[in-house]
Amino acid sequence: MSLRQTMGELTNRDRVWPFLVPDQGPRVDVSKQVILYIEGLSVSFDGFRAINNLNLYINDGELRCLIGANGAGKTTLMDIITGKTRPDTGQVYFGRNLNLLGRSEAEIAELGIGRKFQKPTVFEAQTVYANLELALRADKGILPSLTSRLTSEKRDRIDEVLRTIGLSDERAKLAGALSHGQKQWLEIGMLLIADPRLLLVDEPVAGMTAQETERTAELLTSLAGERTVVVVEHDMEFVRSIARTVTVLDQGTVLAEGTMDQIQSDPRVIEVYLGESH
Ligand code: ATP
Repeated sequence: MSLRQTMGELTNRDRVWPFLVPDQGPRVDVSKQVILYIEGLSVSFDGFRAINNLNLYINDGELRCLIGANGAGKTTLMDIITGKTRPDTGQVYFGRNLNLLGRSEAEIAELGIGRKFQKPTVFEAQTVYANLELALRADKGILPSLTSRLTSEKRDRIDEVLRTIGLSDERAKLAGALSHGQKQWLEIGMLLIADPRLLLVDEPVAGMTAQETERTAELLTSLAGERTVVVVEHDMEFVRSIARTVTVLDQGTVLAEGTMDQIQSDPRVIEVYLGESH
């Protein structure tokens, strides 16, 4: 039985839950259905505080954008959520009562947190379809060979993901022959195969054409609601096109949070991040 099955409550159908921290009672508004709860988080590297007493609460189904200057701590925060980096202090809870700290990266992925890194890492010598098939087999713990046939249920799942990422017509194409944007969508598709509840996406539109950027905005917007999507992005126009709530990080902590209009008119944000050039 997989860890996710063991934690039976973590399915996309189970959407209403109070958020409780064991032994401490509710710490946030329980009506908000928080899926990611981060409080008092700090981590230092060689005495430098990359994350500094950071609090962040993300609701189930949200599409949240994280922005911040280089070195603000965005990557480090993603690393902590996904189990790559251990914080010195703080709490990170996923869903009801699942403490993410102390879990391995593999366990956290299995609990339903998918991470998309900036650079696409698809199998270029395989077709689009085969890439999704490999992702499906990897998710099910089946050896990643293509020799055995997929059940119709699994083929349906791949077809559904192909439609979601807009690559149905490219299914037989080698991944290496795709455009940069299409590779990024394929990699998002490979994550979707595992049906994550929370998707962390790092700079999805870097290097994309305007048209690809627009389609990526549509894709990420369509994924939110059903799942929770957190996007780290520097492209402010893109952030404006997708974000309901934007969180600004500065020096490892949350400087401001709100709609894009609120953020862009916040004097602190203008001073440290947006400046004249944005
Ligand atoms: P960017 O937009 O450039 O990706 P970021 O907001 O993602 O920046 P981080 O990569 O999280 O910022 O880095 C935050 C700070 O922590 C930086 O000053 C960085 O040099 C430092 N840092 C991150 N990881 C380590 C590490 N493993 N060892 C030492 N310092 C680190």
